[in-house]
This record gives sequence, C-alpha cells and structure tokens, in this order.
Amino acid sequence: MHTADIQSSLWTDTAIEAPPTSSLIGERRADAVVIGGGYTGLSAALHLAEAGADVVLLEAATAGFGASGRNNGQVIPAYTRHNPDDVVREFGVEQGERLNEWVAGSADLVFSLIRDHDIDCDAVQNGWLQPAHAESRMAMVRAKHDQWAARGAPVEIIDRAGIAKLTGSPIYHGGWMHRSGGHIQPLSFARGLARAAIDAGAAIHCETPALELRRDGNAWRVVTPGGAVHAETVLLATNAYTDQLWPGLARSFVPVRSFHIATETLGANVAASILPGGQGLSDTRQALWAFRPDREGRLVTTCMPFTTFGVRDALRRSTVKRLRQAFPQIAETDFRYIWECKVAMTVDRLPRYHELAAGLYAGLGYSGRGIAIGTAMGKFLAERALGQGGTDLPIPKAPVQSLPLHDLIVPLSRILVLYYRWRDYRA
Ligand SMILES: Cc1cc2nc3c(=O)[nH]c(=O)nc-3n(C[C@H](O)[C@H](O)[C@H](O)COP(=O)(O)OP(=O)(O)OC[C@H]3O[C@@H](n4cnc5c(N)ncnc54)[C@H](O)[C@@H]3O)c2cc1C
Repeated sequence: MHTADIQSSLWTDTAIEAPPTSSLIGERRADAVVIGGGYTGLSAALHLAEAGADVVLLEAATAGFGASGRNNGQVIPAYTRHNPDDVVREFGVEQGERLNEWVAGSADLVFSLIRDHDIDCDAVQNGWLQPAHAESRMAMVRAKHDQWAARGAPVEIIDRAGIAKLTGSPIYHGGWMHRSGGHIQPLSFARGLARAAIDAGAAIHCETPALELRRDGNAWRVVTPGGAVHAETVLLATNAYTDQLWPGLARSFVPVRSFHIATETLGANVAASILPGGQGLSDTRQALWAFRPDREGRLVTTCMPFTTFGVRDALRRSTVKRLRQAFPQIAETDFRYIWECKVAMTVDRLPRYHELAAGLYAGLGYSGRGIAIGTAMGKFLAERALGQGGTDLPIPKAPVQSLPLHDLIVPLSRILVLYYRWRDYRA
C-alpha cells in the first residue's frame, strides 16, 4: 500500500457545479439574513424563500466551503453520544421526546429535500450502520437499538455473522442499523440546496463575509466588505467556522480539526467485498472509525489527529494500518485524496439552539452529526424567523456558555484523542 499522488478533496473533484452567485455590492433590505452557507444556512434560506420571505444569505467563501462540503457524507438520524432515554432524563418527558422525534425524522427530511428538488448528490437511503468494535460495546449497541425501536424508529439489531456480512470486515462483534440513514456526496448536496434556495427566490452572496452585526432601530444591520443588509431577523449558521461576529459564540464549543482520506477506486472484487450493501458505518470507538464507499468504489474514512506536526504523513500511516485491520482484503491501494475540516463539538455532544437577542437566532454544535440534524436545524430556524412553532420547540433554547479556558481546550482536545484511543483499546 503506498500513498502517492495525494490530491485535495475527493468531493470537490466529483461534485455537481455550484450555481453562479455574486458578492454583495451596495445596501439592501430583506426580511431575513442568513449568515453561513452550509447545510444549516442553506436549508434555512430555502425554507424561508419557499414560505415567501425575502431572504439574503451571506457566505464568506462558497456554498459548502465549511464542514458541509468536506464531511464523510453519512446521513445519521441519531445523537453522537446520547440515547433517547438520556435526553428524556435531561430535558423531561415532553421536551425530551420532542427532541427525539425531531432527530429521528432528520434523515427523512434530507432525502425528501433531495427528491423534491431533484438534487444530484449520489444519495442512497439504504441504512446507517454502527458496529461494535468490542464485545463490551454490544450493551451500548443494544441500548441504542432498543430505545430508538421503542419510539418506532426503523432500526434493527445485527449479530456477529450478520455484521461481518454487511461490512465485509471480520473485526466487529455485532451492531445496529438505522434504516432511515444513508449517505450522500456532501458538497453536491450543499450546492444542490443552494440552487434550490436560489430557484425559490433566495439571494445567495458568496465571497461575502459578514463583518459586523449592529442593532439598527428595530432591525439589524449586517455589514459586509461591499455593502450591508437591513433585516428584522438574522440567523447565524456558522458552526465550527464561527468568528467574532457575536461575542462568546465561538468559545461555546470546541472546533476539532479532522481529516478525511480516500483510497483510489478499489478493484471490482475487493470493492464488492467491502460494505457490499453500500451502507456507510461509524463504529462504537470514541476516536471515530468511519468508512463509506463513494459511487466509484473508493473507500472514504475519517480520522482525528493528536499531533500538529507531520500530521498528514502520520495519518496516512495510521490509515494504512486501520484499513488493513478492518478490511484485510485490501492488499494494495493508493490514497488519492486527503483533506481536512473542522467539526464543532459541544461538551455534551448535543446540538445548540440559541436566541441571542430580539430577532437573532443561531443553531450549531452538531458534534459530527450535522448532515441530518443541521439540515433540520436550518428548517427550524426558518420557522422561528417566520414566527412559527409556538412554545413547544423541538429543540430547547440554550444560553451561550463560553467554555472556561477555551484557548487551552483546543490543544487539549488533541490529547483527548489519545485518551479515547486508549479507552477504545481497553474496551
Ligand atoms: C471530518 C468530519 C466528518 C464529518 N462527517 C459527518 C458525517 O458523516 N455525517 C454527519 O451528519 N456529519 C458529519 N460531520 C459534521 C457536518 O459536516 C457538520 O455538522 C455540518 O456540515 C455543519 O453544517 P453547518 O451549515 O452548520 O456549518 P458549515 O458547513 O461549517 O458552514 C458554516 C459556514 O459559515 C461560513 N461563515 C463563517 N463565518 C462567516 C461570516 N462571518 N460571514 C459569512 N459566512 C461565514 C463559513 O465559510 C462556512 O461555509 C463531519 C464533520 C467533520 C469535520
């Protein structure tokens, strides 16, 4: 196995074209301004425009520039860490079950948007797999399965022989599948959402960072390098790429640097023996192992480094080991692509919805599960901007809490990766 010809992102090389956009020049008014052009912001803009609102989306770079254009593409309608019963314990039965129902329906929302807007993003809703990497993690797998099953989710438990067949890997002890999950080409989904939002009447301005957010009478004035937008409502959808626009927001989560590596197209026999049903998987390790096939038979895997020096070489070496361990049938392959992005981790791994001031809302902190939950958050933010939803919100309002010693937590989170690896090994 060698690692020649590393290129940049697989997704930029294989995505559909982005719709043409221009940067904002001049001053204008709108009903709502969305800041950030990932799934959260694009879904918010689409739902607002479909409801007839005059909406302007400002994106500092391009649609899908952040994590939305660079992730693993697994559509997962479940929490990163919590089980549904934990959520009920934390928020009470009514709020907890509303949140559970909202999360459970989030993958269906993604796939229905893809169908309704004819988004060409290699979407496959064939289930999401979470195999147990150790016998001791089967209790966790059963709890997740049983608790989602009790709420009517389309889930199933899989024994050791079954998981070996589904994954093509001999290392797993069993697992569970959520049948409403699946996978997508992440950048194509972001670009498709952008096109759908524009078709519905939204104005999307790329290469247009929001520099300042100022109260202006009963409205907000969002200042950009070439102009400004006045609107009563502003939705912040900047997630791990949040800057200093709103005090304290960037310090309320940990931005974790993560990488992806994609193999070259695997030979037909090998490709047919790995994840033969075409599902993606994220196993029970805390230092995540996630694999998914792309449409041309490459395997795309996620990795979190614990070092900042020589990180790409170190990751290539550890990925070779990981692939050989998980899929011994891969004898020889090149890695064609390695790329990085940031994931916004909250301390408890639950997403956050903030009402920051009158007419100013934010949704973020999906902790690695933002395709389905971020898209649902965008729809929810649009409903808030339209004054819908009443008081029984699916996701509770949270105050912004700056993490103490945030500057230290970011480097420490790399050491945490080592600790997670140790725990995974012990399991
Ligand atoms: C390595 C990795 C793998 C992942 N894999 C998965 C997966 O398989 N499944 C899953 O569900 N989730 C996954 N995720 C998480 C998922 O990608 C994110 O949760 C999701 O993309 C967040 O979408 P978003 O729109 O909230 O933020 P982003 O997509 O990050 O978008 C934020 C945007 O805001 C813009 N911005 C920031 N500041 C400003 C400003 N001042 N003005 C204008 N624009 C601004 C940025 O340029 C950026 O484009 C993964 C994340 C990582 C890092």
